[in-house]
Amino acid sequence: MGREINKLHPRLQKIISQLQEECRKENLVLGIGECFRTVAEQDALYAQGRTKSGSIITNAPGSSYSSQHQWGIAFDFYKNVSGHAYDDDAFFQRVGDIGKSLGLGWGGDWSGFVDRTHLYLPDWGSTTARLKEQYGNFENFRSSWEKSGAGTPSDGGTPSVSGSIVVHAGQIHANNFCGAGISADGIRGSRTKKAGIKVLQQALNLDYQAGLSVDGIWGSKSRQALGSHYVRRGERQYLVTAAEILLMLKDYTVNGVESPGIFGSGLEQAVKSYQKAQGLAVDGVAGSATFLSLIG
Ligand SMILES: [Zn+2]
Repeated sequence: MGREINKLHPRLQKIISQLQEECRKENLVLGIGECFRTVAEQDALYAQGRTKSGSIITNAPGSSYSSQHQWGIAFDFYKNVSGHAYDDDAFFQRVGDIGKSLGLGWGGDWSGFVDRTHLYLPDWGSTTARLKEQYGNFENFRSSWEKSGAGTPSDGGTPSVSGSIVVHAGQIHANNFCGAGISADGIRGSRTKKAGIKVLQQALNLDYQAGLSVDGIWGSKSRQALGSHYVRRGERQYLVTAAEILLMLKDYTVNGVESPGIFGSGLEQAVKSYQKAQGLAVDGVAGSATFLSLIG
């Protein structure tokens, strides 16, 4: 499902960077969960507890456009600590408060259906009624972002980034993927380099149960876990996600980041460009030589 921050309203993307920065200062281990949700994804959630097993988690079918997630103005968060994602009330209260101080609305303040994991842009109220009335559907709303010149990181908007927009987006993805907790300033410094190693360690854990500590230190255990693993076009793995993020952290544009990632033609092209620039064998396959170069 949609964890792609770059599909959200541009202003919300900016606020998420600020929120991540504030949380990092307070040692709050913030994980970003669901962001944008398509009609089909909302329908799948609506089916849960009705036509599919599980308990009911939403009262909004996709066609009703009643979820703020369908409008790109909301995201969910969690505590990025394995086994304790949702059991720390103080954590949700504090992150909710920080979110509000940055101008967001918090689902923890709702009466009735309280959602402590949910933060949103409150410009259109706490429900989607006004958006539905004004725009009808998400596509119309989305095009209003461009008209208003809101800009997005990928189309050359103006987020508060001093370095590269691509590196900036990669830093946000690194924070989401493995809780790297770095500030998304668009500059590839030592913290960003370390975050890149964490991304690769996380992917090796997810794909191969490598059991590495995600510490950003590339030791023999990490090297062994990477072994001769590779990913190439057509594959769907977390190692693909890692390749996408690592390339962005090196200022290479890729065609989006998914988790797990799907190795498409955009990524293949980026891998080839990178390999060529680095004097590696240009085969478009992300293998150990390419990964070792990417984290270096
Ligand atoms: Zn939500």
